[in-house]
Amino acid sequence: MGKPTGFKEFEREVAPERDPSLRILDWNEFHEELPVEQLQTQGARCMDCGVPFCHTGGLMANMAAGCPLHNLIPEWNDLVYRDMWREALDRLHKTNNFPEFTGRVCPAPCEGSCVLGITSPPVAIKSIECAIIDQGFERGWVDGRPPKTRTGKKVAVVGSGPAGLAAAAQLNQAGHHVTVYERSDRIGGLLMYGIPNMKLEKWIVERRVQLLRDEGVQFVTNTEIGVDIPAADVQRDHDAMVLCVGSTRPRDLAIPGRELQGVHFAMEFLHANTRSLLDSNLEDGNYINAQDKDVIVIGGGDTGNDCLGTSMRHGCRSLVNFEIVPRPPDERAPQNPWPQWPRIFRVDYGHEEAEAKFGEDPRVFSIETLEFLGNDEGRLTGLKTCLVDWSKPTPNGPPFSRVPNSERVFPADLVFLALGFLGPEPVLAEQLGLATDGRSNFQAEYGQYATNVPGVFACGDCRRGQSLIVWAINEGREAARECDRHLMGKTQLP
Ligand SMILES: Cc1cc2nc3c(=O)[nH]c(=O)nc-3n(C[C@H](O)[C@H](O)[C@H](O)COP(=O)(O)OP(=O)(O)OC[C@H]3O[C@@H](n4cnc5c(N)ncnc54)[C@H](O)[C@@H]3O)c2cc1C
Ligand code: SF4
Repeated sequence: MGKPTGFKEFEREVAPERDPSLRILDWNEFHEELPVEQLQTQGARCMDCGVPFCHTGGLMANMAAGCPLHNLIPEWNDLVYRDMWREALDRLHKTNNFPEFTGRVCPAPCEGSCVLGITSPPVAIKSIECAIIDQGFERGWVDGRPPKTRTGKKVAVVGSGPAGLAAAAQLNQAGHHVTVYERSDRIGGLLMYGIPNMKLEKWIVERRVQLLRDEGVQFVTNTEIGVDIPAADVQRDHDAMVLCVGSTRPRDLAIPGRELQGVHFAMEFLHANTRSLLDSNLEDGNYINAQDKDVIVIGGGDTGNDCLGTSMRHGCRSLVNFEIVPRPPDERAPQNPWPQWPRIFRVDYGHEEAEAKFGEDPRVFSIETLEFLGNDEGRLTGLKTCLVDWSKPTPNGPPFSRVPNSERVFPADLVFLALGFLGPEPVLAEQLGLATDGRSNFQAEYGQYATNVPGVFACGDCRRGQSLIVWAINEGREAARECDRHLMGKTQLP
């Protein structure tokens, strides 16, 4: 602990963001960086707690509390304060293969559990993490490190999201020949085609993929296992398989009018947009254009918010975001104490941008969509809704009731459904004979990752359900460890 009084002397400061009304004019990242001296001051706010909660990484009230990667946060806070950036980088890479991703897009459960947060704003852990890795790249300290020896074992990693990339990185370091199969044309999973460019620029993903290539990982794109190559062939040709195929089946809204043109799943919108942006700077027209449209996004979370930010950059005419849940409180509720993840009202980048342009937060809470309305040509024209009351559950029905006489029609040309995901697609489970759990995820115990089929492991969203990048990296690393143990009878992977 470099400065014992730092937490009393200095105010919390986080990396600034670009002006919302200007950043919607381009697709560049909206985060900026704090100057080095300010970051050191932020490092000095860390109390190097005797019992730090920032890196505990468990589940409390079903949400992450503390960092799931068990990042050595107090250590690198102190090293940054002392201007020892190289050492801080080494400590950071010990637990996290991809801090440039989490430093940008993680919701930072570490900060939600920081002990300083009991009485003051928590340490700016995420801004410090991002700066450590960005400095590392800028100063040329991050390079590919191929393993010194090879084991001769071959492992297939299916899916190239953060879980697949983390598993591949670790298995390759253990000396195995790793091939990553990806059905998309680009590597990265939701890092590439889910999270939009303004939140995570795609050259940052490609930079890390290139490092993995330099270390010896093989990547095969445009290849869907179970469709282009039978899963049994991949199993036969490798000593082990690690499945990291994500949770890709979107939850639908089966109400009248669902078939109307203009109603889309969020991922149809987000995937096509990033692909067109990268292929042609949106000149090929192969995306759903929200320009001059009345847009409604149903559902919140990261996916809903990314639809808001993308619609804003297209130049939509109006933007509304429905949330069926009530507005969260501004402060932690008594039943949501520290160190749980604070379930509070947050203003994310898309909300901020919509408010900057249209003058108000786009969210409507406690609202249910009853029907999509259309014209004679089968095109969407609006939505019929009603408000719901969560204090009055419906007997033998949903945990809310409809508010009488609250029906309203919203005009809409485009609707994006961001209602969550229902697990992996069934093809691999069918072809490999994998057991699934009650939520249709691949069944494998957390910490073990072995499925019921010997030599086949599962990790990330396809095992735990839709989650976070940081959990995907955690599971990818640990699944690699268990796969290595299976192949070699012992393992030195963490
Ligand atoms: C729009 C959106 C925004 C998000 N924003 C954030 C955020 O800001 N912060 C955060 O922490 N989390 C965010 N998340 C959640 C996070 O992205 C996921 O939890 C994480 O990416 C899961 O990683 P994964 O590797 O398990 O799966 P994925 O990232 O989904 O990757 C799975 C990959 O497997 C490929 N695949 C599937 N089937 C096959 C097959 N049969 N053969 C070959 N390849 C296959 C897919 O094409 C995909 O590339 C977001 C999610 C979404 C949808
Ligand atoms: S809990 Fe907060 S103050 Fe304590 S060691 Fe972790 S980052 Fe520092």
